[in-house]
Amino acid sequence: MLRLPQFGVELPETVDAVVALLRDNPSARIVAGGTDILPNLKHRLDEPPKLISLAMVRELRTIELDASGEGSDLVIGAGMTLTEVSEHPLVREHFPSLAKAAGLVASPLIRNMGTIGGNLNLDTRCRYVNQTHFWRQALGGGCLKSEGNVCHVVPKGRNCVAAMSSDCVPVLISQGAVIEQVGTANEAGKRSVPAGEYFRADGLRHTVREDGELTVAIRLPLPSTPRRSAYAKWSVRQSIDFPLVSVALRFDLDQDSPHGVVQGLTVVAGVLGAKPRLVTKLDDALGKKLSDPALSRIVSERVHKQCKPLENVPFEAPYRRQMLAVYTRRAIEALTAD
Ligand SMILES: Cc1cc2nc3c(=O)[nH]c(=O)nc-3n(C[C@H](O)[C@H](O)[C@H](O)COP(=O)(O)OP(=O)(O)OC[C@H]3O[C@@H](n4cnc5c(N)ncnc54)[C@H](O)[C@@H]3O)c2cc1C
Ligand code: SF4
Repeated sequence: MLRLPQFGVELPETVDAVVALLRDNPSARIVAGGTDILPNLKHRLDEPPKLISLAMVRELRTIELDASGEGSDLVIGAGMTLTEVSEHPLVREHFPSLAKAAGLVASPLIRNMGTIGGNLNLDTRCRYVNQTHFWRQALGGGCLKSEGNVCHVVPKGRNCVAAMSSDCVPVLISQGAVIEQVGTANEAGKRSVPAGEYFRADGLRHTVREDGELTVAIRLPLPSTPRRSAYAKWSVRQSIDFPLVSVALRFDLDQDSPHGVVQGLTVVAGVLGAKPRLVTKLDDALGKKLSDPALSRIVSERVHKQCKPLENVPFEAPYRRQMLAVYTRRAIEALTAD
């Protein structure tokens, strides 16, 4: 049986109290649902002296519309569980791809515990590091992300390329989400970071979140024109499985066209490295109808050309690359089938 290391636990009840604890305990870690951090502690990937639990912080547990800015936003508190996000009527109405992604995470039990804030800040994963300490020692003493000094995926690399495997993150980026951070990163005590700028290409520290910062909410601008969105993940068992590749798609459609002419297109792929990949050079897909077979062909070809998985999660990289293109095409075709 894998045992947890010893640590203290704080149970603050307000965001201010969390921030004060983070300031006074620089080596402490935040725990929300605990479904990612606790297994990592059992694997001795970190040994913090203290965990600061968000379980009692009611401020983080809301989903509401906010019309105080230029447009309206849907604001999701970081402490909402994945089940609550996936089932919430406002999320389902305005951001169906997010409802789908949250509903595809792991299993019902884990979705009842795991939060959207934890999913956003999920640590990166790699077949060489998400193992017991004993296993890592048998491999030769760990790697850059654990106890060692070499990367087993890119042996001459200086960065870790462990994979960002969150289901919700590609969707949040595709929908133009903004991450609301509170804490000691700046004098104002808070900042807003576009989801597309939140991630870094180094799996050792793959977000721009500072140690003294807490994610309090995710702000999603409501679509101002007709929009169709999709999320697809390939995993082997369809349950309790992280994605082996994933893709989020957003089609902004012509206001006046009854047949859904594509005016804007955003495609974000996950599990390729520490940072999600924004697929580019999609201009020749614009102006096509959503139902045009050429659209799904163009987009899936671009995805295949630009997205090159690494050998850091199970299954061979060329096969995952192929599956990513297949799942992209199927996701687009499914949008026109309903
Ligand atoms: C068997 C299994 C299968 C899984 N399958 C999937 C899957 O298919 N897809 C998927 O996406 N995930 C999967 N997960 C991972 C995990 O369950 C989810 O990502 C979940 O959303 C994590 O949320 P949490 O609240 O439990 O995070 P925690 O474990 O509490 O925290 C995760 C990380 O986020 C940080 N954190 C948490 N909340 C905040 C906050 N508000 N501000 C700043 N930092 C914060 C923590 O410090 C920690 O580093 C799986 C986990 C298990 C055990
Ligand atoms: S990508 Fe390299 S450094 Fe990162 S966890 Fe995997 S083996 Fe370790």
